[in-house]
Amino acid sequence: DFVTTAITMKGTRSEKDAPALSQAEMKKQSMQEVRRSLPIFPYREDLLAAINKHQILVIEGETGSGKTTQIPQYLLEDGYTKGGMKIGCTQPRRVAAMSVAARVAEEMSVKLGNEVSLVHDCYTNTLSVTVPSSRLKLSVLLSSSVIIIDEAHERTLHTDILFGLIKDIARFRSDLKVLVASATLDTERFSCFFDDAPVFRIPGRRFPVDIFYTKAPEADYLEACVVSVLQIHVTQPPGDILVFLTGQEEIEACCELLQERCRRLGSKIAELLVLPIYANLPSDMQAKIFNPTPPGARKVVVATNIAETSLTIDGIIYVIDPGFCKQKSYNARTGMESLIVTPCSRASANQRAGRAGRVAAGKCFRLYTAWAYKHEMEETTVPEIQRTNLGNVVLLLKSLGINDLIHFDFMDPPPHETLVLALEQLYALGALNHLGELTKLGRRMAELPVDPMLSKMILASEQYKCSEEVLTIAAMLSVNNSIFYRPKDKVVHADNARMNFVVPGGDHLVLLNVYNQWVESGYSTQWCYENFIQFRSMRRARDVRDQLEGLMDRIEVEVVSCQGDSVPVRKAVTAGYFYHTARLSKGGYKTVKHQQTVYVHPNSSLFEEQPRWLIYHELVFTTKEFMRQVIEIESGWLLEVAPHYYKSKELEDSSSKKMPRKQGKTKEELG
Ligand code: ADP
Ligand code: MG
Repeated sequence: DFVTTAITMKGTRSEKDAPALSQAEMKKQSMQEVRRSLPIFPYREDLLAAINKHQILVIEGETGSGKTTQIPQYLLEDGYTKGGMKIGCTQPRRVAAMSVAARVAEEMSVKLGNEVSLVHDCYTNTLSVTVPSSRLKLSVLLSSSVIIIDEAHERTLHTDILFGLIKDIARFRSDLKVLVASATLDTERFSCFFDDAPVFRIPGRRFPVDIFYTKAPEADYLEACVVSVLQIHVTQPPGDILVFLTGQEEIEACCELLQERCRRLGSKIAELLVLPIYANLPSDMQAKIFNPTPPGARKVVVATNIAETSLTIDGIIYVIDPGFCKQKSYNARTGMESLIVTPCSRASANQRAGRAGRVAAGKCFRLYTAWAYKHEMEETTVPEIQRTNLGNVVLLLKSLGINDLIHFDFMDPPPHETLVLALEQLYALGALNHLGELTKLGRRMAELPVDPMLSKMILASEQYKCSEEVLTIAAMLSVNNSIFYRPKDKVVHADNARMNFVVPGGDHLVLLNVYNQWVESGYSTQWCYENFIQFRSMRRARDVRDQLEGLMDRIEVEVVSCQGDSVPVRKAVTAGYFYHTARLSKGGYKTVKHQQTVYVHPNSSLFEEQPRWLIYHELVFTTKEFMRQVIEIESGWLLEVAPHYYKSKELEDSSSKKMPRKQGKTKEELG
């Protein structure tokens, strides 16, 4: 999401006549003192001189030294916004971008949205994998005097793509300054990639951090976190605690457990403020983590690895690190992408520990053994580009006119087979022609911030006159299986409530039904509560839907309804997801593409029915390979929506073990 989360600054500042020293004025003064106290401040002049001298500069500094919040302001003060130019700063994480933009606006005493703004494109906060609209991205790049690629060490997909694009753009825009900002990790590699650009190092202030390991592996790291927090709280001197978990569910569970145990302990212990932070947390809640801890109390922030380097919370003395993170992984053979909890890298573990030593000597409690640290963790995290589906990226680059992807200047190239699979899929979807060029359909698909299959589904809804329904389904699918609420103590009620939404045809139609009933209820919270539906997910689905609907104009799709007929809807789904076809075979299903044995997920509305032909939205592996979100189709539709991909013979003969034969060009020709 590098564009949705870019911060831009404009130099249109007009000082109002200053009133007598108001409270705001005093706050401003102390804010200025804080700015002057940051490690980066003594290097302000040297840094600006280096930026002036070099077109591309790598800036390395400990987390919290002031790179993100200060550099854009220094540049502004130094005149880089003259002539209406912008200073762009890209952030790989949406939450961090919002928080940092708010902070910069506050330090400058301006309203967010005037001089400092988040470049919002239409689809921020919503879809898990988004590709920004190329138009917007270029407009940001072209009107900027400086581009800061922040948090470069995170090596997210979009940061890596930006590296290649900006290196290229900088060649013919000699007036563009490029700053690559990174925590103290791997900066030589950035320098090397950018033709030996100089590295500007901001010496960190770091206090010693004592590191403790467990003697034996922890069976339940969540419980171990809770116990460790309480132990620190009861036995250790003042100082806040930072806990690293892998995602929203874990964080919420941990916070609940902590609150419950504190309640039980009552006045026997000092006050413990429990604060979560993760991507989907409402922003007013997010802001809370920065509030100073009241005297006598202690704060515990339970975070995803967003707090590793993107956000700095002052006052942390204790870090609890279970040693895990959630990572995307991709199997190019099956085209299966999944999020899995895996051990984090040693580099991550060291960054986490570093958070304890920012304001004073600190302690880091690793909930794993010293042996595991040495032998079970990887040295560094594999860049995202090497473990993700590249469909989106290929579509984006092609829409920018970059045709030769095999020779694109990647810092670490993605695996060849992943790239080839992405090209093949886009060809099968009709987004690329046999020469590998973007088709008209592909150009329209690139305008939508969703996976290629999903955008194809939306575009197909035009032909089947069911865009109203398909937009809803797309939005509901994008909120990732968090619609139905199933609390442990009310499983039976929850399952009954879920059954009430079942309609024939499959899960996509069930989701549509849920959404439509919610709309009828007037978007009611109460309705959600009564029906075991997660209100927050529904609200997010509504946001996504609104944003997608707003884009229909741009891709010239009229929003119309098919009035309850499920066939057009299912055909549109098929047009996007024909790659994901499975047919009933002994004991389960077989994917048509790879003859892989898969099963209908027990939560599916089609679990008992077992229709002959299915399309699945995604595969997840838990105890078995499960298809999640499935819809019933007729095999004939496959010939209608993908005649170049399926041959009728192969679809009729159910005993055939043959793979569907692809027509058209070989891999080499596609590349
Ligand atoms: P870096 O980018 O080098 O990691 P930052 O510029 O993000 O450093 O942070 C510099 C300082 O500003 C830190 O001490 C941090 O605590 C403070 N800061 C950043 N964002 C906020 C915020 N939203 N609220 C309060 N303080 C903040
Ligand atoms: Mg930063």
